[in-house]
Amino acid sequence: ATPTSIMAGSGRSAEMGVLFKGGEHLEQTQSIDTVVVDKTGTVTHGKPVLTDVKLADGQDEEHVLSLVGAAEKQSEHPLAQAIVEGIQEKGIELGKVQFFEAIPGYGVQATVSGQGVLVGTRKLMQQYGIDVSAVLPEMEALESDGKTAMLAAVNGEYAGLVAVADTIKDTSRGAIARLQKMGIHVIMMTGDNERTAQAIGKEVGVDAVIAEVLPEGKADEVKKLQQQGKKVAMVGDGINDAPALATADIGMAIGTGTDVAMEAADITLIRGDLNSIADAIIMSRKTMRNIK
Ligand code: ADP
Ligand code: MG
Repeated sequence: ATPTSIMAGSGRSAEMGVLFKGGEHLEQTQSIDTVVVDKTGTVTHGKPVLTDVKLADGQDEEHVLSLVGAAEKQSEHPLAQAIVEGIQEKGIELGKVQFFEAIPGYGVQATVSGQGVLVGTRKLMQQYGIDVSAVLPEMEALESDGKTAMLAAVNGEYAGLVAVADTIKDTSRGAIARLQKMGIHVIMMTGDNERTAQAIGKEVGVDAVIAEVLPEGKADEVKKLQQQGKKVAMVGDGINDAPALATADIGMAIGTGTDVAMEAADITLIRGDLNSIADAIIMSRKTMRNIK
């Protein structure tokens, strides 16, 4: 690669909102055959809103939501923010928190107004021996709609469910189809549950979905693909994505995401539009063709 063609390629890419950290990344990006996209904040806007609240028999909405809202107020997760905003919009006052613990990939545990509160996945409820079998059909219906449903328990008993929905970026479906036309395999990866992930994955047309990946497991999934001989680009926005971005052959961070993701990545996609993935690969292919 001549330094001149690399400089020209980098400059043209930057004009399109694709920032390569170094010339070697512009050279390597042409060989990518597999793109792994994070779901929340990458395929979707990452700004979920509270859409549904269901209560267990005999439970009072204001009471349960005051506990759930107070617990989630302590969490930094985007899901938590959506839950808190939705509850506050209902004019419900939040309880007082005596203890809080985030359980990454599962949910939160707290003591609110002297009561034990859990909010999170089925697996979280399972770990605490809470029977949620009665609500599972309802939960699955919400998930099939692409919503993320979270279960709440108070003092060791199932108390209700809250669901949030995130919107898919208008450009995601077209951008994924464009990559596929270039012969690239597109996989969506998420910590969210299998059913929600499949619903969103189907809507945007990805080739495969890897769901229920724990925060520390994303890099391992990338490694597995590399062991199969794939040249992997990982695209993400979150703190959770940083190890996978660093592990991938090429890491691409969404410019509207976290600084941690951008630091771990080789490329920053300023526009947050997944079309920039194809733009980066095309620019690399063109640049390398010029110099062979
Ligand atoms: P994502 O990749 O979607 O950000 P995470 O690994 O952070 O996923 O979380 C996985 C799942 O754990 C979420 O879909 C949700 O069900 C549950 N979860 C995580 N954080 C919270 C929270 N603060 N409150 C309730 N549930 C949570
Ligand atoms: Mg994300």
